[in-house]
Amino acid sequence: MGIAAVENLLKKPAFDQVELNPRIREANKQLFGEDLTAAQIVDRIVGEVRRDGDAAVIKYTKLIDRTEFTPEEFLVTEAEYEAAYEEADPEVVASLKKAAENVRQYHQEQKPNSWMTYRDHGSILGQSVIPLDRVGIYVPGGTAAYPSSVIMNAMPAVVAGVREIIMMVPPKNGKINPYVLVAAKEAGVSKIFKIGGAQAIAAMAFGTETIPRVDKITGPGNIFVTLAKKAVYGHCDIDMLAGPSEILIVADKTADPAYTAADMLSQAEHDMLASSIVITDSAELAGKVAEEAEKQLKKLPREEITRASLDRNGLIIVTEDIMQAVELANVSAPEHMEILTEQPFQLLPYVRHAGAVFLGAYSPEPLGDYFAGPNHVLPTGGTARYYSVLNVETFMKRTSIISYTQAQLDAVSDDVIRLAEAEGLQAHANAVRLRKL
Ligand code: NAD
Repeated sequence: MGIAAVENLLKKPAFDQVELNPRIREANKQLFGEDLTAAQIVDRIVGEVRRDGDAAVIKYTKLIDRTEFTPEEFLVTEAEYEAAYEEADPEVVASLKKAAENVRQYHQEQKPNSWMTYRDHGSILGQSVIPLDRVGIYVPGGTAAYPSSVIMNAMPAVVAGVREIIMMVPPKNGKINPYVLVAAKEAGVSKIFKIGGAQAIAAMAFGTETIPRVDKITGPGNIFVTLAKKAVYGHCDIDMLAGPSEILIVADKTADPAYTAADMLSQAEHDMLASSIVITDSAELAGKVAEEAEKQLKKLPREEITRASLDRNGLIIVTEDIMQAVELANVSAPEHMEILTEQPFQLLPYVRHAGAVFLGAYSPEPLGDYFAGPNHVLPTGGTARYYSVLNVETFMKRTSIISYTQAQLDAVSDDVIRLAEAEGLQAHANAVRLRKL
């Protein structure tokens, strides 16, 4: 296969081109009474929640998540938190606390400062960096529970100084996973609502009788969640549009085939749409990784999902040299990039597009997923070309500060008047001319 064909293979489809699989499409026909695309379903749900508030949230929670709640029952109560702590394994709680502390410390280092500088004649210019008032974090919960995602979304908001963090999680049999509740308490979430999917996103964007309207929505989710975030953008801000998880491993002949295969599988087990790619300049390693992957796959409890994902989006590509591997990695712009080469730091300067980079044999991707400190909410689907990893600044905004003295305004007034008049804006020019000495 030529290099152009490989490059095409690595480019991901846009979010609005996503096809629902036939099984989900059939189920949706039963649910909605007609054959709708994911985008049509989301438009309908978002529109109804905007118009009907709680009533629409109740309707879709019953229809899709098979849970009947009154508006009061959406909110997680203190008794539910207490039950979660009782049910949770104390060792897992202790690990969650350590993870939360690592994430807090890492994000503390990111926090941007407001600044001011003195200019000519005592004028002042600067920038205030101000936390958002209220944010909404979405924590997925359709097929699995993600306490780690709670910490990764909430902690940067806490560090930023956001006053109120509300969280949405889909209910499973009317309940929320206890570790998700414990993680939320440990991370400092203010309120949790047991609502999922597009209805959760719309409720946070527009507000309902019981759910407060937020300024920004962050967090990953399935296609319905992602399209809903796209639909409400502008009514509030969003962090990014995140798709299925991805790993791309750049490896040379020194990489351990067992480690390399294990890291591929660790992404593939997420879901059938996840993608796991190895790019190597060693044909020998490529062969060994394929053998190892097959060996390890058979022992995985999620073998079926993992195999389906590898069949669909698993690739092992052999390049002419390692630099070509890095160039292809940049074309893919993966969520997670691992560099398993003899001198991984030598390749780092050439990495232009990746959500997170893991260097060396002892930095496997799950370390970043759960524990090291950097955020695991990362751009996917090639969007690392322009999105950054979730961070403290995601939850802050910048305000410019300008304070000129009379002498300094006078010194620059001719320039400002000339520019205003060139734009035909006489009132602008007058505002400056009136103040001339
Ligand atoms: P989810 O919470 O995103 O979605 C579940 C919700 O989707 C349900 O509450 C329901 O309301 C809605 N829904 C389900 N089927 C529907 C249908 N047919 N029509 C309309 N709405 C429907 O949970 P999920 O489905 O498990 O997906 C989670 C996704 O998040 C996965 O793709 C996973 O890989 C990803 N994820 C990403 C990260 C990250 O940091 N990038 C972390 C964790 C999970």
